[in-house]
Amino acid sequence: MDRGAFLERAREGAELIRMHIELGHTIRIVSHRDADGITAGAILARAVAREGGTFQLSIVKQVSEELIKDLAAEKHRIYVFSDLGSGSMGLIEKYLEGATVVVADHHPPERDGFSTESHVLVNPVPFGANSVRDLSGSGVSYFVAREMNEKNRDLAYIALVGAVGDMQEIDGTFHGMNTDIIDDGKDLGILEVRKELRLFGRESRPLRQMLAYSTNPEIPEVTGDERKAIEWLRAKGFDPEVKYWQLREEEKRKLHDALVIHLIKHGAPKEAIDRLIGDVVVSPLYPEGDPRHEAREFATLLNATGRLNAGTLGVAICLGDEDAYRRARKMLDDYKREQIEARKFIIQNWSMADEGEHAYVFYAGRSIRDTLVGIAANIAINAGLVDPEKPVVVLADSDEDESLVKGSARTTERALEKGYHLGDALREVAEKLGGEGGGHAIAAGIRFPRDRIEEFIRLFNEALGRQLLEGKSSEG
Ligand code: C5P
Ligand code: C5P
Ligand code: C5P
Ligand code: C5P
Ligand code: ZN
Repeated sequence: MDRGAFLERAREGAELIRMHIELGHTIRIVSHRDADGITAGAILARAVAREGGTFQLSIVKQVSEELIKDLAAEKHRIYVFSDLGSGSMGLIEKYLEGATVVVADHHPPERDGFSTESHVLVNPVPFGANSVRDLSGSGVSYFVAREMNEKNRDLAYIALVGAVGDMQEIDGTFHGMNTDIIDDGKDLGILEVRKELRLFGRESRPLRQMLAYSTNPEIPEVTGDERKAIEWLRAKGFDPEVKYWQLREEEKRKLHDALVIHLIKHGAPKEAIDRLIGDVVVSPLYPEGDPRHEAREFATLLNATGRLNAGTLGVAICLGDEDAYRRARKMLDDYKREQIEARKFIIQNWSMADEGEHAYVFYAGRSIRDTLVGIAANIAINAGLVDPEKPVVVLADSDEDESLVKGSARTTERALEKGYHLGDALREVAEKLGGEGGGHAIAAGIRFPRDRIEEFIRLFNEALGRQLLEGKSSEG
């Protein structure tokens, strides 16, 4: 990607924010409700405070016309959107015309830029970045913050926590401008990237849970069964109660070898084996054994706060609030437990999924919470319930509005090679169903009326089918 041109945009965004701080205007920050959005919001908030400015911050589930209208009614002079906004450029232009707007985001944007000078899109995708690998929303916010003040390099670890929350290193390594953030953090001595076991629980979970809760990748015969995890660990000579961070380096290597051999023996796909051991980000800013010491645990803690509508608590954690951290820890166990239950539900009931020509659609009703459908869709893929070349959508009743369903679509690199783009497909289908949808090629979301699920299944399969045909005709 063209880093220089992207950084130039980041500088434009930074200049606008600094100008409004100097004018004494409150910086109105709106960010997304997952770990990436929470860290992005925290980075911007810290950067504004560092310049002596004031901010007002909201963490939201998605952008809608109502939200933009409500924001416009607040009559701020400047709005900064992070980890969202790129799919709502038209709405932003329509309702926030008179204000300054900075969108710091990594979702594929509606257009390559805004047409007015007071609105700036800081997004790496028009400069050649892959939206799910090369930079996350927190990373974009980090570069804006760094352009505001070099001192904001000390936010590099928080930026990587957001990247890990979005699974940017899902194949086992960081890519694109994420590696620039790593370099900044290493220079300052505030983070380290190690080659370790990339499963949730390095700091706070005993090995038996780290393995039994592993869904990404799945460990055959161990995932989902703590008793088997204990047996397996004992058979290999490990104490199931020990935590990964407590292992000596040679013990870690022995565990890695045993797991790789186990996966090979059970015929696990090569990609699953490749991503089992890889980049793990840890930070000496926190003690070993603290979930904030390692980026994946930190991200999951933040996701747990977002899911309970306590995203601003997550922001406080990123800003170093110890009390917020203690309150959030209590939310984490429930969150992880729900993921395990969602996994059981999806595996036991997968036969109910509709398998169309191009996609699987599974409607979970109220059995899976609407904030966990993305994880559920990934579980269907990782647990081998589906043909990996066919995208998966999991739908659940919306928590907020019972006339709506929330859906998450997920797929694999192999499916993308055929020509699918889930974000484009869901955007198109949502327009026809009177809902809202969009996102990345590999991961996207939608909300639409619950009584239109049958139609959704047909339209989504048709949209994906057309993408393959269009891909073929543009090649030939
Ligand atoms: O909203 P946003 O960009 O922040 O989130 C990206 C989403 O894509 C996350 O839910 C992440 O888990 C998902 N993802 C995925 N597979 C990938 C990369 C990202 O499911 N290979
Ligand atoms: O699966 P693998 O061949 O690596 O397993 C080696 C040993 O680990 C087996 O002989 C068995 O005793 C134990 N094991 C277990 N439960 C599993 C998998 C393996 O007890 N689910
Ligand atoms: O997919 P999405 O980013 O929404 O996932 C939210 C959180 O759930 C992330 O922190 C991710 O690490 C975690 N996750 C997981 N197992 C999966 C998929 C996601 O623990 N199979
Ligand atoms: O909601 P879910 O986690 O399935 O979303 C997957 C990705 O699609 C996220 O990056 C999310 O921000 C994006 N998305 C979007 N527009 C929507 C719904 C989801 O850009 N209307
Ligand atoms: Zn993101």
